[in-house]
Amino acid sequence: MVTKDLDTITDIEFVLLLDASKDFGRFGKTDRKCSRCGNDFEHFTNNSSYQTRCKTTDCIEITSRGI
Ligand SMILES: [Zn+2]
Repeated sequence: MVTKDLDTITDIEFVLLLDASKDFGRFGKTDRKCSRCGNDFEHFTNNSSYQTRCKTTDCIEITSRGI
């Protein structure tokens, strides 16, 4: 289940983060940029969860936990 960590992100930003997280899963990186500030995304995995977020603090991010 993927959740928005921040209530302030839009559906478009949410989809962008989902696409970026898929890129990280497939390629280990993404060429996509944050639509809000233009920064790169970073991706963390931790056991059954992962987080994809903008490198800018308190910008946009999503977290996925388990299956
Ligand atoms: Zn950003």
